[in-house]
Amino acid sequence: MKTEAIMKRSVQAFEEYSSLPAGVKAKFLRDIAAAIEKLGDSLIKTVNEETNLPEGRLAGERARTCNQLRMFADILDEGSWVEAVIDTALPDREPIPRPDLRRMLVPYGPVVVFGASNFPLAFSTAGGDTASALASGSPVILKGHPAHPRTSGMVAEAIYGVIKDMGFPEGVFQHVEGGADTGQELISHPSVKAVAFTGSFQGGMAIFKTAMARPEPIPVFLEMGSVNPMFVLPGKIKEEAREQAVLIAKSVLLGAGQFCTSPGLVFVPDSDNTETFLEAMAKTFNEAGEEKMLHKGIVSGYYDALESTLKVKGVDQIVRKTGSEYTGAPTIGVTSLENWLDRPELQNEVFGPFTLVVRYKDQNDLLKAAKALRGQLTCSLIGNDSDLKESRELATLLSEKSGRLIFNGVPTGVEVSYAMTHGGPFPATTDSRNTSVGAWAIKRFVRPVTFQSAPAALLPEALKSSNPLGIMRVVNGKHTDKEI
Ligand code: NAP
Repeated sequence: MKTEAIMKRSVQAFEEYSSLPAGVKAKFLRDIAAAIEKLGDSLIKTVNEETNLPEGRLAGERARTCNQLRMFADILDEGSWVEAVIDTALPDREPIPRPDLRRMLVPYGPVVVFGASNFPLAFSTAGGDTASALASGSPVILKGHPAHPRTSGMVAEAIYGVIKDMGFPEGVFQHVEGGADTGQELISHPSVKAVAFTGSFQGGMAIFKTAMARPEPIPVFLEMGSVNPMFVLPGKIKEEAREQAVLIAKSVLLGAGQFCTSPGLVFVPDSDNTETFLEAMAKTFNEAGEEKMLHKGIVSGYYDALESTLKVKGVDQIVRKTGSEYTGAPTIGVTSLENWLDRPELQNEVFGPFTLVVRYKDQNDLLKAAKALRGQLTCSLIGNDSDLKESRELATLLSEKSGRLIFNGVPTGVEVSYAMTHGGPFPATTDSRNTSVGAWAIKRFVRPVTFQSAPAALLPEALKSSNPLGIMRVVNGKHTDKEI
């Protein structure tokens, strides 16, 4: 179908879909989850064939996808996410009266979502971006990822089935196949109001530039590269060099390093235990089984980025297992903090089973490193009680650089929950005010609107004085679920 026709359907769908009661949209999301589950083993088999991801991981990812859809349904049922705020009129206020003001969040309009290659279910066709956009009341145009077309098609058909059963306009969700040109054409169309994407820095920035160059620029929520630095502190390496090295190595190797939260940078103190740490890390890498990567393009992208990093002066390679056409060789590089500070290219993401260990001397070094860091999805501090007590300044700096600051844990494994932030300052994302995982991902696709002195009959339910939805609101500066 031509872009013009796709957009026409999307705009028509927006009018009807956005004004449906929250409960109807919640049922829609729950029915999509059930329809995906009904695809059963054939879905898992198809994704496995297309992505090389093991079936166990895919079963978990499907559960996460469906739980995500149901979480947004719960958020709609609860209702307070629209952030209703009411300032009642003060007609007698001097020197001028205050009008009645009522504010809430409303959906933005058609959203283009780019499916991600590394999460073919949870970040793709019916993934977090689609679920949160649909929950907000916005129709979705999904640009399928060419690395898993059959998977994407199966999930899209499941969504179409639910749309039909619920009697919704067809344009509520549309699945579009094609290459970069197709994506560019979609985001250039004037009817599109927002874009969500997970992928490479290069792809993301090409999309961002197009969106900003439109006669009407639109918000673009891009989740791109992150090296997720981990800071191992002196007390902890003294006590647990081997254990921490194994934990970190396993996090790097998880899923062949194809996670946006894979730790690609580990700061380790120069100490008596540093060699023990490096040896334990190297051993874990050497013993790791061969794991196929998503597709040949990802493998060649891995080797290109790896070679660029390993040829930087002052970087030593301590492990490099063999790889093949489909497997990325797990690799560890080591360098000094001075060298890392001098060479900003060592902050580039190497998407795959690689990490760069940076040896530092003292706390002052760590502060310099934290100041030099680009924006990250996560930063992690690994320390004992006394390490952490002395790390207030470091922790503050790292919280300014990342969307999630982790204490004594690895960054892989992103909980889908209410408090999660999966975002961060540029270049991790293009808009650090948001998250692409968890409840508040919905806030990306809405804007506030204030109704001033509106007649009761024209107010949305969320803003009516009687509070028919029974939601929490801020009335004259106080949280309450009472009627006015
Ligand atoms: P990608 O190349 O950025 O592609 C993601 C999506 O964006 C695809 O649908 C792609 O469509 C589209 N796209 C790419 N360039 C575009 C452009 N100039 N204009 C419009 N659309 C464009 O990511 P990928 O294929 O998933 O993986 C490639 C690399 O991205 C990996 O090797 C890795 O480095 C990185 N990556 C990072 C993350 C992360 O979370 N940080 C996740 C996945 C991948 P077409 O393929 O049809 O062009």
